[in-house]
Amino acid sequence: MHRLDLLVVGSANADLVIGVERRPAAGETVLGSDLAVHPGGKGANQAAAAARLGARTALLARVGDDAHGRLLRDAQQAVGADTTGLLHGGPSPTGVALITVDAAGDNSIVVSPGANNRLTPDDVAHAEPLFDAAAVVSLQLEIPLDTVAAAVRAATAAGSRVVLNPSPPAALPDDVLAVCDPLVVNEHEARRLLGDDAPEGMDGGPEVWARALSARGPRSVVVTLGAEGALVWDGEAVTVPSPEVAAVDTTGAGDAFTGALGWRLGLGDTLVEAVGYAVRVGAAAVTKAGAQESYPGPGEVAELTAQEGAGR
Ligand code: ADP
Repeated sequence: MHRLDLLVVGSANADLVIGVERRPAAGETVLGSDLAVHPGGKGANQAAAAARLGARTALLARVGDDAHGRLLRDAQQAVGADTTGLLHGGPSPTGVALITVDAAGDNSIVVSPGANNRLTPDDVAHAEPLFDAAAVVSLQLEIPLDTVAAAVRAATAAGSRVVLNPSPPAALPDDVLAVCDPLVVNEHEARRLLGDDAPEGMDGGPEVWARALSARGPRSVVVTLGAEGALVWDGEAVTVPSPEVAAVDTTGAGDAFTGALGWRLGLGDTLVEAVGYAVRVGAAAVTKAGAQESYPGPGEVAELTAQEGAGR
């Protein structure tokens, strides 16, 4: 019996968001809306999504000794995540994402990784008790790759299942890829990772991408498809549709999906069962503005499930 369903190892950022009529050209200044500051970063988002659903979750991440770091810690604690692995005290500020949203709703984002770049393999070694406690360890690539590799090895040594979302896309060592169960990618990440390897050019479609990604070594692959749901590849392809919802803001939907997926796998769901739950969590997350603020509790997910049953 594991003490934690899910350990998320990854990034924690403050999202600094300003609305603008249009984004400035080089050398230009434009006036925007009031600044809004939200907890974000793929790691913190995944942990918040899982904890909000009731998962016993911990986050291993690094923030600075500043107000943004405190905001991130408070947000994790508010949803009941274990923050003993939320490290601070280094020289770097908390990571930030500077986000401008224009009148058409399009984002331009500059990320300053800050303390995320200082999450080290040593930090992973010191966090061994968290790895030992966790049924599933979930990772993304907004922290140094050698730290990701160390965390994957620590998870494997502890007998934990590894879920990895290669975002932002980067080449992964074979031994890291080999234990991903699943590798979780959206369409954009699938295309970027496959590059010239896509067997039918870029137009093969999700099943072809999943099969090609699977040939790189992961134990299983999940391709998320936005409103279409997700495709699971586990030796054969299974399409899992998403419930139909009125989408308001898709920010952080993929993180909610992956956090929920990791949790359900930790509870012992099969991959297809876990994806069936995660598509509902992703769908619920797009019905509200923001990332962590939009994440559903178990009641909202159950409601979506009931509505879907009634609609059939
Ligand atoms: P990302 O946010 O990484 O780009 P996706 O857009 O594929 O990832 O979304 C992740 C999951 O969120 C999907 O698998 C789906 O369950 C849900 N989702 C996203 N957009 C919608 C939508 N418009 N309607 C319903 N569900 C959605």
